[in-house]
Amino acid sequence: MSFTGTLDKCKACDKTVYFVDLLSADGTTYHKACFKCSHCKGTLVMSNYSSMDGVLFCKTHFEQLFKESGNFSKNFQTCRTHPSH
Ligand SMILES: [Zn+2]
Ligand SMILES: [Zn+2]
Repeated sequence: MSFTGTLDKCKACDKTVYFVDLLSADGTTYHKACFKCSHCKGTLVMSNYSSMDGVLFCKTHFEQLFKESGNFSKNFQTCRTHPSH
């Protein structure tokens, strides 16, 4: 791990991440506040998260949304459109 002071952009919101807000997961930079499941908004931890195209999910919802049906993009669209699901 090396922090050189470079300002990276958060993969989740595409805004600059300052060092104090920086969280790096698998070489991808996020704000600490952005490192949460996009479905349930639950806080994620390094050992319990999944990501799809930079969108983060908790393991539970990643499996619910993507693995059950086998149709990734369709379910993704559905759940974004109906967040109360
Ligand atoms: Zn962010
Ligand atoms: Zn979740």
